Amino acid sequence: APAASPARFGSPLEALRTVYGYDAFRGEQAAIIDHVAGGGDAVVLMPTGGGKSLCYQVPALLREGTGVVVSPLIALMHDQVDALVRNGVRAGYLNSSQSPAERAQVERAYVAGELDLLYVAPERLGSEQTKRFLERGTIALFAIDEAHCVAQWGHDFRPDYLGLAELAERWPDVPRIALTATATEATHREITERLSLRDARHFVSSFDRPNIQYRIAPKLDVRRQLLDFVRTEGRDADGNPVAGIVYALSRASTEKFASFLAANGVDAMPYHAGLDAATRRRTQERFLRDDGVVVVATIAFGMGIDKPDVRFVAHVDLPKSVEGYYQETGRAGRDGLPATAWLAYGLQDVVQQRRMIDESPGDLAHRRRLTAHLDAMLALCETVQCRRQNLLAYFGEPSTACGNCDTCLEPPASWDGTVASQKLMSTIVRLQRERNQRFGAGHLVDILRGKRTARVEQYGHDRLATWAIGDDLSDAQWRGVVRQLLAQGLLQSVGEYGVLALTDASAEVLAGDRTVAFRTEPERPGRTSRSARA
Ligand code: ADP
Ligand code: ZN
Repeated sequence: APAASPARFGSPLEALRTVYGYDAFRGEQAAIIDHVAGGGDAVVLMPTGGGKSLCYQVPALLREGTGVVVSPLIALMHDQVDALVRNGVRAGYLNSSQSPAERAQVERAYVAGELDLLYVAPERLGSEQTKRFLERGTIALFAIDEAHCVAQWGHDFRPDYLGLAELAERWPDVPRIALTATATEATHREITERLSLRDARHFVSSFDRPNIQYRIAPKLDVRRQLLDFVRTEGRDADGNPVAGIVYALSRASTEKFASFLAANGVDAMPYHAGLDAATRRRTQERFLRDDGVVVVATIAFGMGIDKPDVRFVAHVDLPKSVEGYYQETGRAGRDGLPATAWLAYGLQDVVQQRRMIDESPGDLAHRRRLTAHLDAMLALCETVQCRRQNLLAYFGEPSTACGNCDTCLEPPASWDGTVASQKLMSTIVRLQRERNQRFGAGHLVDILRGKRTARVEQYGHDRLATWAIGDDLSDAQWRGVVRQLLAQGLLQSVGEYGVLALTDASAEVLAGDRTVAFRTEPERPGRTSRSARA
């Protein structure tokens, strides 16, 4: 028989105290650990910060053999393994970033039964060579981290994960535990089926993060709004700056927002995949070590970063899915103390994301999935009900109004937008039917407000029946109308120029069979800047 790393501890509590220095298990940890240490399979749905790592690390220390951990986050393996080794756990990893000598060293230790935990990238586990190698040692358990990556319906599908189903056939006696911090009911089902975990026990924790306050604001002047937000939320009770993460979609905008904040006295730094490794590492270390650092990052930042006292997460661009939003905002307040999740989004976000979906490679089914994800995100943004309730309902969890989100604290006023919608829709219909023309929001609003722009003159749009019938609303209000109609599926943006078109549902509004309610939005501040065109 191959050599096996011996069981290191007699009881879960002994392992918890000795290795981690904690006194008690939290939530379902103890039940999960007992079940897996006893040889059972498990599916674990637990929010970020819930303490998933212990759920497979402790059973690996209690069972004979090495716990094999599948993790897609190669960049983090090094840090995770370092932290374990510092705590006296014999851990190693195998991934493409290693030299052959390093790899050989880890492989030798595994085969000799000298490893408690071995982290492996999913693409590596897919290869026959790796599986043969693993057969030369004794495996205590398989942990499949970020298990939602196996779900094609999910927001983070990775083809490599499909190969993990084979582990069950090859090692039928080795317990497997799949873990994720984001799973709708559909994703949960896919995890269970695709990883052959039909006989597993399911441990589903509440996804509620009661200490996080959710706030979503319409974009007006986003740099100003962000700065105001950071200035108010970015300090603790003693007035000292606190740690926060600002998410932006593009590398260029992380740089721009970071330098804007820095120029205004915030200790802010950009972080994205285009920066060299040394800079990224320095930023990450400063964020972890120093107080009050704000990192402006693309979504790559934060995965697996174990910083419990992040006090806010801000989004200056619309996330692509509720799952992504939940995962990113979940990096705030892992210590359980009050934290804020703030998001600003505008019409341009909606148009841009619809366009990205239209242009995305992949089949129609794939684009439909992306559209469904975006629609759910927009529904969360435009809801006049409790944000948390909407968020939890998305993950299949019923709840009541939370009293700790923007809509609970300040119920949004709404207004009857039926007539305004009809004015806009009939402008679109006329242009299309009478002239076979389609335009984006900007020009349509110019027509409604009766602005004699060069383009209006060029096309003679001042002769349209709807010319200047919308002067009762401001530009900003009209843009809000367009954005909310898009979010409600009463308008669609098509093609690469974001031109607007009606949907099947718009006909009901035009015919007067359906009314439309809009959130009343705050007035645009007096100053104007280029970024104000949100
Ligand atoms: P997740 O992977 O679910 O986001 P982690 O496993 O990273 O969560 O744990 C989050 C934080 O909580 C870590 O700092 C971890 O050390 C800590 N933690 C986990 N379990 C316990 C416990 N039983 N008692 C105290 N702290 C814990
Ligand atoms: Zn609420």
